[in-house]
Amino acid sequence: MKTRFNSKIVEKIWLKIANIISLNSYLLKDDIKYNLLKDHGRGIFVSLIGNLINIIGLLYIFYNQIGPTYILVGIISISAILLRRVYLGKIIRSLSVTNIAAVQNIWDRVCYNSIFYGIWWASTLFFIMQIAQSTQQLIVIAAGAGMMSGCTIAYRTIAPAAKITLTLMSIGCLAALLSLNSAVADATALLLGSYYLVLLRHIIGTSSDIITRLKREHELKVSADTINMLLTDFTEQGSDWLLEFNESGHLINPCNRMAEACLRPIETLDDSNIFDIFDKDEQSKDLKNHISLGHSVNKHIISLTIDNEQHWWSISARVSKYQNANDSNSSESRFLYRGVVSDITAHRQAEEKVNHMAHFDALTDLPNRFQFNQNLNIAMQSNTTKLGLMYLDLDNFKAINDTLGHPIGDKLLQSVSKRLQACLQNQDIVARLGGDEFAIIIQNSSEKICKSIAERIISVLSTPFQIDGHDIIIGCSIGLAIAPEDGITPEILLRNSDLALYSAKSNGRNRSVRYIAGMDESAHNRRMLEMDMRVALANNEMILHYQPIVDLIKEETIGYEALIRWNNPERGTVMPDQFIPVAEETGLIVQLGEWAIRKAIDDMRQWPDTFHLSINLSPAQMRSPSLIATIVNMLANTGISADRICLEITETALMQDSEANLATLHKLRELGLKIALDDFGTGYSSLNYLRSFPLDKIKIDRCFVDEIDSSEDCQAIIKSIVDLANTLGIVTAAEGVERDEQIQYLRDKGCVEAQGYLYSKAVPQNQLSNLTQRSDIEVDTLV
Ligand code: C2E
Ligand code: CA
Ligand code: CA
Repeated sequence: MKTRFNSKIVEKIWLKIANIISLNSYLLKDDIKYNLLKDHGRGIFVSLIGNLINIIGLLYIFYNQIGPTYILVGIISISAILLRRVYLGKIIRSLSVTNIAAVQNIWDRVCYNSIFYGIWWASTLFFIMQIAQSTQQLIVIAAGAGMMSGCTIAYRTIAPAAKITLTLMSIGCLAALLSLNSAVADATALLLGSYYLVLLRHIIGTSSDIITRLKREHELKVSADTINMLLTDFTEQGSDWLLEFNESGHLINPCNRMAEACLRPIETLDDSNIFDIFDKDEQSKDLKNHISLGHSVNKHIISLTIDNEQHWWSISARVSKYQNANDSNSSESRFLYRGVVSDITAHRQAEEKVNHMAHFDALTDLPNRFQFNQNLNIAMQSNTTKLGLMYLDLDNFKAINDTLGHPIGDKLLQSVSKRLQACLQNQDIVARLGGDEFAIIIQNSSEKICKSIAERIISVLSTPFQIDGHDIIIGCSIGLAIAPEDGITPEILLRNSDLALYSAKSNGRNRSVRYIAGMDESAHNRRMLEMDMRVALANNEMILHYQPIVDLIKEETIGYEALIRWNNPERGTVMPDQFIPVAEETGLIVQLGEWAIRKAIDDMRQWPDTFHLSINLSPAQMRSPSLIATIVNMLANTGISADRICLEITETALMQDSEANLATLHKLRELGLKIALDDFGTGYSSLNYLRSFPLDKIKIDRCFVDEIDSSEDCQAIIKSIVDLANTLGIVTAAEGVERDEQIQYLRDKGCVEAQGYLYSKAVPQNQLSNLTQRSDIEVDTLV
């Protein structure tokens, strides 16, 4: 403890001594010495003038008392010393920061010069005092005191030199005074000695003050350099840059990065206002208000248009007060903003894209379900008049997507959305809710307007689409609900338009249906039916009935059409018209159809070998990959010839014109099966189908046969169908024959086959045995 105490005292004393004798000046950094020297260099001229005045004054007074040799030696020596100082001053002036290595050398040379200078003045004053008369001694003392103060000022920044010259001059003066041997001189010497101490103290104090100041300045400069370097780096390398402006938005020192970001030369930014660069919108107004009040800016987002492109900057700036330099009279303080700008355009665009993706369908760019629900909410809240909501579903879309592929399906959806938009007015909104479902909000509407828009949509969408070389025909079903009658909340309106759509689809598609009360009940019933049907096959509830097909020329049964029946314990016998559409919608038809094919071919084993079987085939069954395998498998199992089987397809299956469907039909024909076109005349009735696929039979729909004896149109249609079919070598069959007159007419016109209640209803297999002759049938008992 004691030793540490002692060593501290010793260290302190040593530091004091080192400070007094200026040893510590060797510890100063070169760049500080550089600044000290520069300061000294600036005072050399003034100190030279002071020396010259003193020397000339003394020469003038003592010229006659000093011998010329002394004068000569004195003048030459002081001239050499002063010239040397001037020379050093010149070197100091030319000294640059980059040549810091020379600093110590010049420092030392200045100190050496000060030794000679001090000796010269000390010896000169002592010498002159020896020859001075009593009044002249006062001048010597005054000159000595002046020189002591002068050297303190001249060397104020070079502490060692100041101390050397001051000490030497003081010694000279004191020695001169003491050599006079008088009490007054001794007292003056004492006074001068105290001056010396005061001046020495002053030198030590001043030099340490100056050194401290320089050190601080140096540190400040170093940190300023570092900050500048970092800021330059930040500005040049980063995506952000610095921004300075005043409370009115006037730009101060705009940087290159900002000019680059604005795609403008930097000169055009000088003297410009940030609000001239920004878009004149709410955000810009907000910022203007904000800064005019002197508030700091924190991540304020501002939009601007550069080269016709929307950009966004985020601005953060701190505020400080300053006095307007151009208006020194004004006591009003202004605000100076310094901050950082980040170009957040890319971020913002990504954000907007994500936002857009969350609200809009990527394929069609129409609002998605989420956005649609929002739009519907807003429309229903603000709408005081009627509002129409259409729920729209494309017919046959699934088949097109499956057979022609998703890329074509996607293009079709895009074309559909364009056609839909073209049918609507600006205030109406069409959205894609998913898959092939669309919804439309018709503002300020009425039933009449909605119906006419729905009709327009149906007609526009049934015009064929030309996509990648394919002629695609689709239709659409529309469910319509009108607020407030059909629902006062968005949820109810949506549900009811969906129910109306369901009804449109089950009523034959390609139509629009408005919601009516009770639809929910029938939808519920349909759902129950679907659930019951899912277990019907496993529970053996399905059975096949057969309806005879009669050859009109031979007047005998040549085969049967298999027609499915569903015997449900609770529902009783359910007819196919009720459950086949639901089975087709849900896909259950594939399973059901395959069961019917297996069962019918199996039942055929009981029939005479000449008898044919007709089986109905839904479009969905044709897309089933197991269809051909099922048929081939059953034919192989039963040994029944393929040409005894006729598959009845509808126009819808051909209408899709899909290569896959046609390929399936061709394969079936190659296997020897026959293909019949069912319900001819009810669908699109394009006679082109008769040419596009080699059909074996056309079944003329019941509606034409029904009115055969009363409608000339029907007669004409039947005649042309039969003529065309005969020309093409296709068999014609009439459906739904109930009266003898119909048979007569059909036979006269050349129709080959007929089916109908006139011969028999469809009956179970066990009742078929006697049904080979028309005469065998007791129509009344069977109906
Ligand atoms: P479809 O193929 O046009 O069958 C003819 C329909 O007309 C049958 O109705 C039949 O009972 C009825 N019908 C026959 N003759 C007369 C008549 O003289 N007068 C009247 N008014 N009707 C007559 P059904 O059995 O209700 O079948 C309806 C539809 O269900 C069929 O129409 C067919 O498209 C479909 N279907 C029936 N069974 C099957 C099946 O196993 N598979 C598939 N995919 N569809 C089937
Ligand atoms: Ca049929
Ligand atoms: Ca039919």
